[in-house]
Amino acid sequence: MEHILLGAPVAASIRERSRNRSERLKSAGIFPLLAVVQVGERPDTVKYAQSLVKKAPESGVETRLVCLPEDIHADGLRRALRELSGDPAVHGILLLRPLPAGMKEDEMCALIAPKKDVDCATDLSLAGVFGGKELGFAPGTAQAVMEILRYYGISPQGKRAVIVGRSLVVGRPLAMMLLQENATVTVCHRSTRDLPAVTREAEILIAAIGRAGAIRAEHLGKDPVIIDVGINWDPALGKLCGDVAYAEAEPLAAAITPVPGGVGAVTTAVMLEHVTLAAERLSGKDRQKGTEN
Ligand code: NAP
Repeated sequence: MEHILLGAPVAASIRERSRNRSERLKSAGIFPLLAVVQVGERPDTVKYAQSLVKKAPESGVETRLVCLPEDIHADGLRRALRELSGDPAVHGILLLRPLPAGMKEDEMCALIAPKKDVDCATDLSLAGVFGGKELGFAPGTAQAVMEILRYYGISPQGKRAVIVGRSLVVGRPLAMMLLQENATVTVCHRSTRDLPAVTREAEILIAAIGRAGAIRAEHLGKDPVIIDVGINWDPALGKLCGDVAYAEAEPLAAAITPVPGGVGAVTTAVMLEHVTLAAERLSGKDRQKGTEN
């Protein structure tokens, strides 16, 4: 097993898979298209939208950037989302958040057609993750963790997995995905008593906390695989860092993802691949493939 689990080769293999799927779709006249909906001009949102537009072609995905003004009336955004949901040329819809103050994110996300919900913004997508059914898509970050484990040949089967963090974008869906792969899963949070005693049991330890260096040597048992989802700014070091105190944890781990360069490097590739999967599902090409095999 590799000791440092880099995200780049995982992302590259996902992009290749996605490009191959896209080529097959294109030969049938279907061009996978992601609509990126940006409301207002928040610098981080604008930067993310631009990076998606730049990266998408490597995954065989075209993009349509829908820029709406900060002061758009809620009805205007509702209309835009309904139109994109009904547009047969659009296969994926990504509503960039946070939305301007006063807009109800849950209500807006619910307007995205579940089959085009490539980043798990709707309740139906979450229901699919929890029920193990193909409704919508899993959150990109949670799936990125699973992709890293798969790529590096780390099977969760029968292993004790401990996740620290229970958000709906990472911790909880990941718990369901690991259960699907027959891990024995414990999910920790702020009220977990004696966190180090629980995390020391982990054969696979996943940190999705949002606190720089929260997982230290005392939290680690024997040779765990550590997946660090956290992305934090360390003002002292003036750079990005994870939730795991890397210098302490790396020598004790069987394998570990770095930050940056680990999970974060995979998330976008996963979400873009969802667009090609959505195009397959919407066109019925996934069923055709099943009957051809
Ligand atoms: P979140 O919604 O704030 O959830 C944080 C979770 O951590 C909560 O469940 C919280 O417990 C738990 N927690 C906080 N402090 C804790 C402590 N001292 N002990 C035990 N549990 C504790 O965060 P999130 O959206 O899941 O994100 C988590 C991290 O992942 C952040 O650093 C974020 O930047 C990063 N992230 C990375 C990616 C990527 O692509 N790599 C994508 C999304 C997020 P309670 O529920 O009890 O409050």
